[in-house]
Amino acid sequence: MVDIARMTSPEVGEAIKNGYDTVVFAVGSNEQHGPCLTVSTDAVLGDVLALGVTKRLGDALKAPTIRVGCSEHHMTFPGTITLRKETLHELLRDYVSSLGRHGFKRIIILPSHGGNFGPLAEVSGELREMSPGIEVIVYTDLLEFVELIMKTSDGLGVSHENAGAHAGEAEVSMMMYANPEGVRKECIPDAKGYVGAFDEEATKKIFANGIAALSPIGVLGDPKDSSREHGKKYIEDLVEAIVDFIKAM
Ligand SMILES: [Zn+2]
Repeated sequence: MVDIARMTSPEVGEAIKNGYDTVVFAVGSNEQHGPCLTVSTDAVLGDVLALGVTKRLGDALKAPTIRVGCSEHHMTFPGTITLRKETLHELLRDYVSSLGRHGFKRIIILPSHGGNFGPLAEVSGELREMSPGIEVIVYTDLLEFVELIMKTSDGLGVSHENAGAHAGEAEVSMMMYANPEGVRKECIPDAKGYVGAFDEEATKKIFANGIAALSPIGVLGDPKDSSREHGKKYIEDLVEAIVDFIKAM
């Protein structure tokens, strides 16, 4: 058992004493994911990625995912809840300080939602400064994260445009694998969104004008070739790449 939310306090204490002194948590979101996926997608995938990384690292525990994030660019769609970036910063300070007080020596923070990468990068220096003797590792490279997903889509024969950066083939596949009840399969044929390049210009546009400026249905990609098998591969590859990143730090 490595998931703190499913453990008793004595079990957590015992684990830390036995050398499980790394803790991993994801920062997800509660936001629209087009017509096919539930709004909890980034929180659900955050849980799965953080748990996968925790298990691969060994001697590590998973802390609860932060289930809401910075989603202002999705607010024209119902069901989205957004945090101001200051609120997210406060949450992160409190998470890191709480975990530090229980003796964790390494805290790993994984954003599973694009809008959280920037706010996380802004506060990462401060999180390190406020935690002397604790290694705080924050994954903050959004374009690299998207590239990792695209590398897997190459291997699966899915175009980058269809794999997409939001509610496209990649995310729908990952949800089919991780949480099938969160996928409305019957909506997939009508869920083709923006299939242009996801570059710096596109990300700027999204954060400045909202995602609807690129896709009126809130989808970047086309989920038509989604499958559970693809989802398993995306998640396994992402976990491997994140573990490599952590080991290189
Ligand atoms: Zn997402």
